[in-house]
Amino acid sequence: MTKILVIEDEELVRENILDLLAAEDFDTIAATNGRIGVELAVSETPDLILCDLMMPEIDGYGVLTALREESVTATIPFIFLTAKSARGDFRQAMDLGADDYLTKPFTRTELLSAIASRLAKQAILAKQVCTKFEAQIFSPKFHMMEVYLRRTIEERDFQQFLVYYQPIVDIHSGRIIAAESLLRWQHPKLGMVAPTELIPLAESTGLILPISDWVLNKVCQQTKLWYNAGFTDLRVAVNLSAHQLIQPNFSQKIVNLLLSNNLVPDCLELELTENIIMQDINRAISTMKEVNSFGVKIAIDDFGAGYSSLIYLKQLPIHTLKIDRYFIQDIANDSQKAVITTALIQMAHNLNLQTVAEGVETEQELAFLRQYKCDAMQGFLFSCPLPVAEFEKILFAKKRLNV
Ligand code: C2E
Ligand code: MG
Ligand code: MG
Repeated sequence: MTKILVIEDEELVRENILDLLAAEDFDTIAATNGRIGVELAVSETPDLILCDLMMPEIDGYGVLTALREESVTATIPFIFLTAKSARGDFRQAMDLGADDYLTKPFTRTELLSAIASRLAKQAILAKQVCTKFEAQIFSPKFHMMEVYLRRTIEERDFQQFLVYYQPIVDIHSGRIIAAESLLRWQHPKLGMVAPTELIPLAESTGLILPISDWVLNKVCQQTKLWYNAGFTDLRVAVNLSAHQLIQPNFSQKIVNLLLSNNLVPDCLELELTENIIMQDINRAISTMKEVNSFGVKIAIDDFGAGYSSLIYLKQLPIHTLKIDRYFIQDIANDSQKAVITTALIQMAHNLNLQTVAEGVETEQELAFLRQYKCDAMQGFLFSCPLPVAEFEKILFAKKRLNV
């Protein structure tokens, strides 16, 4: 049964909403002020929250800010119900990460339709995680991993996490021009957990935010060390999760990281997949524009694997287009992949984007990419993702691709 938390200090309004929801067979919980609302949201993790804006102690903005910063409540759909109809209030609410904003008096139909559309969107998001990882999510191993992961985060035992780096190489000059950071989890009992298992688990449990914060910080520190060692034009990429993108303070977080690490912004690149962007294209555009205005670069990851068009994505300030591994595999012998990839490279160049081919494993694939002027490659042919010390060996030795 869908559980809805109603945070409203006016008794009459609260009781009316609760009656209306109960009549629609929703399971309801109620809070009479913002502080209780935050506590209930954390302990009960409802499916959706309806919240008044003006309340004593903590107002609606305060409630939303607190919930978006807490990993277990960060992604719960949140709808404001308020008598404040000024445009500025609406903007502030949406900027903080609200999903919808209804002004009182609203009709029963308006309220139910806002709830239905938010729940439908949440279901699509959950399904995207589930369909891919359904088998894992319901397995005992996954459950055990969840218990361990929660403990690791609660105890803030971040030494269990490692960041590996995989070189990205300029196909023309053969030089390492960038590196992608890739997370690993080394658990004392589970052994090494790959991100393909860890990330969906972390996303489905809301634990992704503390992990992502740790990764971002670690990568900025590392990039600064390489910068100081003379690698001033090495770009280091970080993969983002959808949860980070909807954090209201995300761009501020990036600024703070750059400042605290005294890092040049164009050393940092943020990788977003089409699916992440399409979950909330407007928010993706505004957040990425902000981040890009400081000089941080944006890459579209796994391009071609989703359903978006490049023209649509061009509304984002993109610097790099990473062509999904699927298209690269055996490209020299697969005419369809060849046609699509060459068209992608051409289009990307017309839009002034740098192209990176992902998952290049053979000389044949590389030769094809070179012939069709793909800018850069990443893949086992040159190097797999490596721990810092190993990556530094090839970086400091200025290992090059044969050109
Ligand atoms: P991705 O961002 O597309 O990263 C590239 C993946 O391709 C990496 O898998 C890399 O090891 C693999 N790869 C690279 N070259 C080759 C190759 O030549 N052949 C083959 N078969 N594979 C190659 P990895 O490290 O297992 O990461 C998987 C995914 O997990 C990443 O895909 C990314 O979406 C996600 N991920 C990794 N680290 C993070 C992170 O810190 N945060 C978030 N949100 N996601 C992450
Ligand atoms: Mg990536
Ligand atoms: Mg990729």
